[in-house]
Order: sequence, then structure tokens, then C-alpha cells
Amino acid sequence: MPVSAGTEPRSGLTLKRRHLIPPPPRKRFRFDEHGARFLIYPQPMAARGFEMPRLARISGTIGPGPSDRRMYVVDALRKDPYRDPDNGDPIWFPPYPKSMPHNDPVPPAADGHFDHLEPGTREFSAAAAFAAAHCAFEVWEHYLGRRLRLVTRRGQHRLEIVPRVTKIGDGAWSGEGFIECGFANQNQRQPYCENIDVVAHECGHIILKRVIGRPPKGRREFDRRSHDEAGADLVALICVLHFDSVVNAVMAQTRGKLYSLNILSQIGEYRQGSGHRAIRTAFQGRTMASVSRARRADNKHLYAQPLLGAAFDILVEMYEDHLVRRGLIDRDLARRSTRAAAKRHSGIRREFAARYALNPDGFADSLRDATADFAYILALAWRKSRRTGVTFSRVASNIAAADLRLNQGRYGQTIRRAFKKRQIGVRLSRP
Ligand SMILES: [Zn+2]
Repeated sequence: MPVSAGTEPRSGLTLKRRHLIPPPPRKRFRFDEHGARFLIYPQPMAARGFEMPRLARISGTIGPGPSDRRMYVVDALRKDPYRDPDNGDPIWFPPYPKSMPHNDPVPPAADGHFDHLEPGTREFSAAAAFAAAHCAFEVWEHYLGRRLRLVTRRGQHRLEIVPRVTKIGDGAWSGEGFIECGFANQNQRQPYCENIDVVAHECGHIILKRVIGRPPKGRREFDRRSHDEAGADLVALICVLHFDSVVNAVMAQTRGKLYSLNILSQIGEYRQGSGHRAIRTAFQGRTMASVSRARRADNKHLYAQPLLGAAFDILVEMYEDHLVRRGLIDRDLARRSTRAAAKRHSGIRREFAARYALNPDGFADSLRDATADFAYILALAWRKSRRTGVTFSRVASNIAAADLRLNQGRYGQTIRRAFKKRQIGVRLSRP
């Protein structure tokens, strides 16, 4: 929707408009309830409450591999990684030749499903990796409103997923036409291919490349690569929020107060010694000033932290906004929760817990609504970034512009405040 002066309407105007123009109809994403059954860990199995795999439904016709028309698993043995583990440079390219060592494709059970496979086996790994990637693409193609081409390399038609590549060591890669996974701590009992945060993150890189385009060379390359690290984490975060088991576990763990270290804000958890750690956390207070050295050190993961942190804050505030609209908490509690975000605040936690106890399903449903709002905004902002190019500030501005178009600026203040806190500027120009 065009805005006459090229600026965002003030809140009073926004309110009035909200009554005049009904929000555009949004379709909630749902997994295909008639799809093939798989077992996956919808949170890393190191996360409390997710030690056992859960059922997932995958749409379409799934053949041995598993495989379908767009992607397939090859369980390669003793495979050299496609990239140099030290510097990430490509060494060779998919498809993995049939003449090289590999296990046979995993067939479905007689009824066409894959949930009979036993956790801890290579067959289970193959199916779990396929299911995780499939879920990530299904979810995001819903919000983007289109099917993506998963492979653009000539001579290759389907995305190749290699679940267990010992020689990668501690890591996972994606690249043109492939995703391949190593192991947390190089421990073969902790395969990254069964860690949905990791697989969905790699799918995120592919999605961002398709939607925004290839990273440019030169001055902007570092911004884009750093953005894509935060973006791929957000792709994973949105993906896992579509599993009821995850939403319910987050709610049970936090009693409705999401501004905290919890299974959502911890991305890619794995076991280390007797405790567990996460690859990254989205709940942190990093600012652009605090990560400025990361640019010189060429550390894109660290440089991405303020962007990821701001996005997580926005999602949480959207959720609290839904809580307020449903009358589940009052505006004052939401405001105090935002201000106390960075600190432990037991009083606010208790207030949330008391409200949560009255209507836990309403809290969970508010998180689902916020997830959808946030995903639609991100999808539109990324589409626009193809035209504007990527700096953190441009993407932040595209997020604000997407909100203006999709929600009449309902979250404008939240978005500006969250980015400002991280020293990322938001400028709204004529859409
Ligand atoms: Zn990455």
C-alpha cells in the first residue's frame, strides 16, 4: 500500500486504518496430514524434552533414498567433502557418482512411510535429514508464495543431501546443488543431519540465494554473507515453530515469557560433556559497535549477531502484541517485559506464569500467529532485498516497509526500536 509522504503513519493513524482496512487474509501453514510419515527431532536431541524423535508428515510422493522430484539423499561412504573444511572453497561438485562407495537408498515400508526406521542407524539419519530439509522448504515456500528452484547447476536436477560426511569434522555445508553434514564435536553419535536447526539453516542459505540472488563481490560481500548467517538462523527458527511439540515445549519451559534463554533462542544445541551448548543464541544484547572487530577478523557469524538478536526481539514483541490483543496480558506487562528484556526479572516472570496458567493454549496460539506475521514480513523483505541490495540497514528498512504493506505498520515502532537498540538504522522510503 503506498503511503503518500513516503513516511510511516503515526500510531493514531495506524490505529484508525486498522479499523478501516481489514488485514489481508493469511493462510496458516500446515503440514500435509496425509503426507508420508517420518521421524525427526524437531529440536536438537540435546534439548530437554526432545530426546525422542517425533512424527512429521512430508507431502508428495516419496521414493527410496528417500527421494522425490526435487531432492534425494545419497548415503555416501568415506566421502571427501565438496568444500575444503579449512576455508570453505569448493573442491568438487555434485552429483555424487554412482560408482563411488555408498549405501543403498533407504526404501519406504510397504505402506510408503519411513517412520519404521530405528534411531541410531544410518537409515534413520538418511530419512531424518530428508524430512528436515523438506520441512524447511515446505514452510518457506508457503510464505514466499512460490516454489523455488533448488538447483541451478547445469546437468543436475535435484538437490543432493549427504547425511554423514565424516571428513567434514564439526560442521555442515550447503552449496550449489548440495547439503552435507558432519558431526557435533566430531562425535558420530551426534550427527548434524538429525539436528533440524542445522539442516534448516543450510536450507536457509539456499533459500536466500534464490530469493535475493547471489552474494555480490567486493565491498558488500561481507555484509551479505553475514546477513545470510542471521537469515539462515531465522529460516530455521521459523521452521521449527511449525511443530506443535516445539511450541508446547517452549511454552511449558518459559511459562509464556519468551524473552529468555530457552529452546527457541538456543540454536543448534548439542551435548558437550555432561552439559549442553548451542551453536548460537538469538537472545543476546550485541550491538554493531560491540561486533565491529568481527569485520576486520572476517567473522561473519559474530558480525551477524546484532541482526539476529534484533529479529528475535521483534518476533517476541509481535507475540506479546498478540497476547495483548487477545486480552491474555495487559499492555503494561508487555511494556515492562520489553524493558526488562536484557535482565533476569523474576517478578515479570511470575506475572507471565500466572496469566499463562489461565489459558496456555491462547499463549501457544499467539506464538503461532506471531510466527506467521513475522515469516510473511521476512519473506517480503527478502524479496525486496533483491532490488535494494543487502546491508543490515537496508534489510531492516525492508522489514519495516514489508510491515507497512502487510500490516499497515502495526509493528513499525517495535521494528524501529529493536534495530535502533542494535545500532542498525531503519529508513522508510516510498515503497
Ligand atoms: Zn551458515
